[in-house]
Amino acid sequence: MHNVVILGSGCAGNTAAIYTARANLKPLVITGHEPGGQLSITSLVENFPGFPDGVDGPVLVQQMREQAQKFGAEYRDGSVLEAGLSQRPFRLLVEDEWIETRTLIVATGASARWIGLENEQKLIGKGVSSCATCDGFFFRDKRIMVVGGGDSAMEEALFLTRFGRDVTLVHRRDEFRASKIMVDRAKAHPKIEIITNTIVDDVYDISKGTVTGVRLKDARTGECRDRDVDGLFVAIGHVPNTKPFVDKLELDPDGYIVSKGGARTSVEGVFHAGDVQDRVYRQAITASGAGCMAAIEVERFLENEGH
Ligand code: NAP
Repeated sequence: MHNVVILGSGCAGNTAAIYTARANLKPLVITGHEPGGQLSITSLVENFPGFPDGVDGPVLVQQMREQAQKFGAEYRDGSVLEAGLSQRPFRLLVEDEWIETRTLIVATGASARWIGLENEQKLIGKGVSSCATCDGFFFRDKRIMVVGGGDSAMEEALFLTRFGRDVTLVHRRDEFRASKIMVDRAKAHPKIEIITNTIVDDVYDISKGTVTGVRLKDARTGECRDRDVDGLFVAIGHVPNTKPFVDKLELDPDGYIVSKGGARTSVEGVFHAGDVQDRVYRQAITASGAGCMAAIEVERFLENEGH
């Protein structure tokens, strides 16, 4: 029987692990299908406080893990396939073994949705990014392309005008999901060009190990053309990793956990941390902060229960 099981090993999960381990709760962390979370696919992180020269995303998240392990956190590779939360102790199916825990921190994150191109995947962190706040700075005076037609795409395109020589926004339809005010702002910006009814069909250049251009395909005629770009920001939404919690925890229509204040979820003893609940900030530092909150709530919950 565990005191606390933490699902996810990104910033939120690792920070929750550091805090609960230092509180002597011997947390068990289930790493999830993307160990290290979003940071593990980023390059340099320059906005995490305490690192004036920046720090590599994978290094930062690995160091958080080592810090938690130093205080006694145990890490197990794998994902939760099923969760029984209707009574305590909670029961979790981790790969092929059921485990029991008094409390649970869900820090499973939200995965960026990708276009799904082979070369896009290979060039992540080498010119392909899903986070303008994280990586925009590296594209000073470069040609930037943003994909998507929602608020995130508009926001990223506008943000990236601070860095890029120009920003091209590519959307697969000619109607936008984004709010009118954001679309109007993007349309009015002198550095932004909007291309509609167009799909990014391939990303170059795998042989150079960096983004040099894309193949664009007209969604109506199927006609293709190449275009030179240095950076490709994919902003086509995120998918919260809450599959095992459908009908077990209150989720919003997009699948994000609904917060009941602090780090509380709709089930007593189950807490949320990080992007699995946060669709707004999505930063390493906010996820870490949320992990800390969840850990403190776990400590207090267990103390109240006499453990
Ligand atoms: P979103 O609103 O779901 O928009 C996703 C966009 O990506 C859509 O335009 C969609 O095209 C496109 N898309 C999806 N899959 C694609 C694919 N495989 N290839 C090409 N394009 C694809 O997601 P979001 O922009 O991340 O926003 C999520 C939520 O957060 C929204 O509720 C949004 O309002 C909110 N948000 C608000 C703000 C703000 O208020 N400042 C900022 C960011 C986000 P289709 O339209 O053709 O489906």
